[in-house]
Amino acid sequence: MKKLIAVSVMLILIAGLLAACGNEAAPTPPAAGKTAEAASNAQHVEAVSSSGSKQPKQEQQPTVEKPAAGDKIEQVTSTENEKAEEGIELIKAKVTKAVDGDTVYVKLESDKEEKVRFIGVDTPESTTKVEPYGKEATAYTKSKLLNKDVWLELDVQERDKYGRLLAYVWLSPPTKESDEEIRTKMFNAVLLLEGYAQVMTVPPNVKYAEYFRKYQQEAMEKSAGLWGLEVKEEKPAFSQAVSASYIGNKNSKKFHLPDCQWTEKIAPGNRVYFKSRDEAIKAGYEPCKVCKP
Ligand SMILES: [Zn+2]
Repeated sequence: MKKLIAVSVMLILIAGLLAACGNEAAPTPPAAGKTAEAASNAQHVEAVSSSGSKQPKQEQQPTVEKPAAGDKIEQVTSTENEKAEEGIELIKAKVTKAVDGDTVYVKLESDKEEKVRFIGVDTPESTTKVEPYGKEATAYTKSKLLNKDVWLELDVQERDKYGRLLAYVWLSPPTKESDEEIRTKMFNAVLLLEGYAQVMTVPPNVKYAEYFRKYQQEAMEKSAGLWGLEVKEEKPAFSQAVSASYIGNKNSKKFHLPDCQWTEKIAPGNRVYFKSRDEAIKAGYEPCKVCKP
């Protein structure tokens, strides 16, 4: 019996050490505290179960899919939502500030302020660095949304790793899910159709992904917005991103999912785009420990 206890204690110590090592190795920028914590929890769970302990897995399973901040919006959706005809749940809000082409601040009817990132689209950068057409996209979003009422539709995942609400932004409530309704009333779609954004599909939020791809194709065919830019050095990299599912960093030789906290921090000159996981690995890149592509 004593032996058994000694072995158990050792296993726990080893697991603890492994978790501590994992924690050191994982990058922990201030914005990513929660995620890194979740990741190190995950490593802890893996370490414990691989060393044969009977500790139940569920107890420490990190809820990466649903960040802690998500609780707040559940309250909102259960009390203040409006129903459109086909049961699309909508949250009415007023846009108070445009951060860039695909991110705004809104005030909910409860007076609560939320930062909202539009689902499925990516506009060129205009804040931390300026990409071609970034300023135009910001100006467009500002002109169309600032001080306007909008109706937010959420998808499977309510928030991203930064705590931003992820939403489809309806300019007026849709009466049904149809191509006509989406292309005329949903701002995410309008951004694509007018060439202010490119498609960025991040599972599991894929409800309108097929429509979005079609709208982008239309914009490309008529050279709308950014698709009509003269080909400069930066343009190819930006276009490449359209079909890329993984983004590598030439410096660190790590690769990430598009929505990883590290992806936005890779300097444009260091970005490498991969269509598949295989392609990245064959090129000698390692999967990121945070987003686990
Ligand atoms: Zn990553």
